[in-house]
Amino acid sequence: MRPKGGDLIYRKWSTELRAGFGFRVQKICLDTGSGCPNRESLTSGGCVFCDSSGGGTGAWLRGESLEDQIARGMKSALGHYKAKACILYFQSYSATYGSPDRFIEAVERATVAARRFVPVVGLSVGTRPDLVHPWVVDYLTSLVRPDFQVWLELGVQTTDEKGLLWLRRGHDLKAVEDCLERCQDSPFSLCAHLIAGIPGEREDQLLRSARWLLDRGVSGLKFHPLYVLKDTPLEGLYRQGDFEPLSMEDYASKVAKVIDLEGSRFVVQRIAADVRGERLIAPKWIEDKNRVIAEIEGRLGCHSMEVKVPVS
Ligand code: SF4
Repeated sequence: MRPKGGDLIYRKWSTELRAGFGFRVQKICLDTGSGCPNRESLTSGGCVFCDSSGGGTGAWLRGESLEDQIARGMKSALGHYKAKACILYFQSYSATYGSPDRFIEAVERATVAARRFVPVVGLSVGTRPDLVHPWVVDYLTSLVRPDFQVWLELGVQTTDEKGLLWLRRGHDLKAVEDCLERCQDSPFSLCAHLIAGIPGEREDQLLRSARWLLDRGVSGLKFHPLYVLKDTPLEGLYRQGDFEPLSMEDYASKVAKVIDLEGSRFVVQRIAADVRGERLIAPKWIEDKNRVIAEIEGRLGCHSMEVKVPVS
């Protein structure tokens, strides 16, 4: 979207939430230790880039109950961000792996615990496309209300079959297609995770993947470059010289291209990776998230991410 004046503005999820609710809404990340059918155990196997935290906080392995995780998440949500409501985000591993009862009980427990602090205005569920069973679609559908957002977050990563194999995803593109068909006409929203910089991918693969997903009902995207975490198969490949991460400039250019060409069709839920410290082996530039965002916005000609949207 290019407003008068020529600067490009993209749709940022936090801005849209504030506009919709009229106050800051904070996501609370949760880990139920659900595991994933692509892993041998919580601490071994899985996609080439995935460590024992399963893409989440690692809270389950640290022995934190859901209630503890909520109390910790609320500290920064209320203290630092001054949030007045929250969205429960079942982030780690594949949240819908296991029995419906286990998952539904976790959602209900977390809701009760979170309501002691602030109203719960949404639910976001992260999982694999091949774990979106009919019961998941039915359950999420039953939760949608005008004042309650429901998002299904799919780990897709790429729509290139060779890329899916390289990442050791353990599913093909048909599984993604079938999942999106099952969700067609559902009232909840779909967000997909995409990775840039998979070895052997086309120069414009991120754009191709985004377009493929947007054409099939996805309305939110999360981006990050392929990065190396400690104790993952990718660490071995990196150390023996079989994987080279993208430069910050290449990453910024790929993400900016997607936003520039397709930005009006989706909300950006994540524009840069959020990992730092000992866990991160490479590339170290991702630790400077503000610089990465500035690099992307510079290419887009944005003057600000915090676009003024009228409060409804
Ligand atoms: S599907 Fe998700 S949780 Fe499972 S191994 Fe891959 S990245 Fe990790």
